[in-house]
Amino acid sequence: MLLRYDDIIDRVSDRALWWLDGVPRYCAFDPELVISSEVALVHTECRECRTRYDVAVCPRAPLFANVRDQVAFENQVNVGDPPVACHLLGARCAGGATMTSLQVRILEYWVQDRGTIPHIWRREPSMERPLAHANWASGGDEDQGVWGQILDSDRIEEWTRARQSGDIAAMCGVLQAFDCERPAKVAHILDVERRYRLFKDEISALSIERFGGN
Ligand SMILES: [Zn+2]
Ligand SMILES: [Zn+2]
Repeated sequence: MLLRYDDIIDRVSDRALWWLDGVPRYCAFDPELVISSEVALVHTECRECRTRYDVAVCPRAPLFANVRDQVAFENQVNVGDPPVACHLLGARCAGGATMTSLQVRILEYWVQDRGTIPHIWRREPSMERPLAHANWASGGDEDQGVWGQILDSDRIEEWTRARQSGDIAAMCGVLQAFDCERPAKVAHILDVERRYRLFKDEISALSIERFGGN
C-alpha cells in the first residue's frame, strides 16, 4: 500500500496529480522526471471505486522483465497499488491494504535507447495499446495475453515442463505458436527469474546451514 499525503495536499491550493508512485505531483507526466530506461503512462483504475489514475510504470524489482516483455507475455505491467487519493478525488472508497489496480491501456510509451546519447527519450506509439482490463467496464474478462492463451490450451503441461527445466527452445516454440511478439526475450527473462529464485533459495538454505537462521 502506498502512503497518504493529505497533510501536504491540504497546504497546496493547486490540484494534485497522481502519476508518480502515489506521490502528489503538480506538473503533468513527463518522462524527464522519471529515473528509468523505459516508462509507460498507463490508464489504471482503483479496483474498488474505479477512480482513474494515469500512472507512470517502470521496470521494478524483484521482477527483471521490462515493460515490453511483460506486455508481450501477459498483456499487463507492474502498476502496483493505486495512490491513496480516491477520497481526495470525491470517491467513496473502502480502500485499505487490499486495494489493487485495474490496468486499461498504455497511453504513452517512452524508451531510452542504449548506446546513444543518454537522456534522449523516444516515444514508441506501437507499444500504446489496450491492457488486461480494457473490457472490464463492459463486463469482459481479464485478458492475460499470450500467457492466458497458453494457460487455457492443451500445451500448458508442455509449457510447465519447459519452464521448470529451463528449456528455452521449448518455451520459445510454445510462445511462437501463440504469436508472442518477443518469444526469445520473454523465454529468456522468465528463465532468469526462475534461476534467480533458485539462487535465492540456495543462498538462504546455505545461510541456515552455516549460521543457523536468517
Ligand atoms: Zn478507490
Ligand atoms: Zn542471460
